[in-house]
Amino acid sequence: MIRLTEIRLPLDHPPEALEAEIVRRLGVVPGDLLEHAVFRRGYDARRRGAVVLVYTVDCAVRDEAAVLARLAGARHVAPAPDMTYRFVLDDGARLAAGAGYRRPVVIGAGPCGLLAGLVLAQMGLRPLILERGKIVRERTVDTFALWRRSVLTPESNVQFGEGGAGTFSDGKLYSQVSDPRHYGRKVLAEFVRAGAPEEILYLSKPHIGTFRLVSMVEHIRAEIEALGGEYRFGTRVEEVLVEAGPDGRRVVGVRLADGGVVETGHVVLAIGHSARDTFAMLHAGGVAMEAKPFSIGVRIEHPQSVIDAARFGAQAGHTLLGAADYRLVHHASNGRAVYSFCMCPGGTVVAATSEEGRVVTNGMSQYSRAERNANAGIVVGVTPQADYPDGPLAGIAFQRHWERQAYLAGGGDYRAPAQRVGDFLAGRPSTRLGAVEPSYRPGVTPTDLALCLPAFAVDAMREALAAFGRELDGFAMEDAVMTGVETRTSSPLRIPRGPDGQSVNTAGLFPAGEGAGYAGGILSAGIDGIRIAEAVALSLAGREVDG
Ligand code: FAD
Repeated sequence: MIRLTEIRLPLDHPPEALEAEIVRRLGVVPGDLLEHAVFRRGYDARRRGAVVLVYTVDCAVRDEAAVLARLAGARHVAPAPDMTYRFVLDDGARLAAGAGYRRPVVIGAGPCGLLAGLVLAQMGLRPLILERGKIVRERTVDTFALWRRSVLTPESNVQFGEGGAGTFSDGKLYSQVSDPRHYGRKVLAEFVRAGAPEEILYLSKPHIGTFRLVSMVEHIRAEIEALGGEYRFGTRVEEVLVEAGPDGRRVVGVRLADGGVVETGHVVLAIGHSARDTFAMLHAGGVAMEAKPFSIGVRIEHPQSVIDAARFGAQAGHTLLGAADYRLVHHASNGRAVYSFCMCPGGTVVAATSEEGRVVTNGMSQYSRAERNANAGIVVGVTPQADYPDGPLAGIAFQRHWERQAYLAGGGDYRAPAQRVGDFLAGRPSTRLGAVEPSYRPGVTPTDLALCLPAFAVDAMREALAAFGRELDGFAMEDAVMTGVETRTSSPLRIPRGPDGQSVNTAGLFPAGEGAGYAGGILSAGIDGIRIAEAVALSLAGREVDG
């Protein structure tokens, strides 16, 4: 197959235009193009009202070698890479590993733990998945209880439970992580097998939405169990058991909240960024970890129609474009970077705390992205050096402080503090909201967001909003509404691992996914889950990770 990239066609091109352009670019007669498939379709909306579709296409042609030789050196033409996923253990090694080993344990059933568990199960290694939260349907009830009735269940909420943090989300499935082995393709292919729409395989910015994610998570569970894996829900790991030997520290098992012990030599730690008690336990147990940068800010909401018009002009509403998104960055004069984060077109702002007495925002949407408002985090980078210098857990203390301030500013009942952009820019508290109705449930309190954000973040955001308004018409509109605080943008710490995937000071412990600092979204967490499943399998089989 030959891969052609950067095929640019007008938004409303007739279907046959794509084939005609392929033939032209390859310099072949139409009869020599045997088949073609769109590998990726994105769009370039830099010129408002003149959106261009951008295709990557895989083609089979007669005498492929000759065509490739003739086009050698041409930009945007290359042999299509082989993206087939191959297990690291061949059948023989799989059986050998399956013969007499203690099954690997995966802590956490978020995208990282699910993909790790799935790939381990597919290799015949029968993982045991331990998840502190509930199965996804029961978890949904608990999550809605916070949104509708201000009742938080600390072990079952937006952050904790089957499916992990991304279950009630926009389900955006793209990432900028380096992925030379095409694990991302395997993640997407597994999601399609579990019920995601096929289009996620070729859209440049695919998303699934919340409802589908719920049933996909159930499908993946069914496959893992059918392959001999096992889940235990409502099962919080309270201690990773470690023995010190002549070769250093080594995992020997885990202790559960009910006092039970599971013996194992291989633990995948896929606990996400909100398992603060588990981070503290690991730190107290001597597992190496270090504070890392993350970001803090608010969610901003505009009418989706304003964003659509600003991005697409007269082409707003076109079915191939859907609800418009945006990506904005500003380097403020106080040295802080301000950027849009986890933008959710046609979605809602959600209450995302996992701890009592705190308020945290995030965003979600359904597949249709048909809600009235667009929302995104507007967040400011923070670093251990400048903002929380007191050790690996200091970023958590920093998050907790501002989440508590937000809870108090919101009224102390899980309503979130909110402010009109016009008031925020003018430095006065909001006493009422305007034309943009905030979507956050259980509700918001108009106030001054400077009460629950560091002063440097407020300064940087004021400057950035004005700059964003110049970049995207209407972005700094007076009535756009900001809801705080967004603190769980990524993990506040990293649990470093070596090239073999194992903790740098605790053999047999495989830190993975977002909580360990190795992923920043659903897709990258899934990719890391595969990477770590391979590391576990090779360790079980007594082989080394290659590359
Ligand atoms: P998590 O998904 O956080 O999973 C960790 C799991 O471990 C949890 O289920 C938790 O209950 C469990 N756990 C923790 N401690 C223990 C313990 N001691 N014992 C047993 N179990 C434990 N990303 C995107 O790419 N696109 C989006 O559109 C998107 N939207 C989001 C919207 C919301 C509302 C939120 C909260 C997040 C969103 N994200 C999105 C981020 C994404 O969800 C995370 O990056 C991703 O889920 C991280 O995966 P993970 O498996 O590493 O960790």
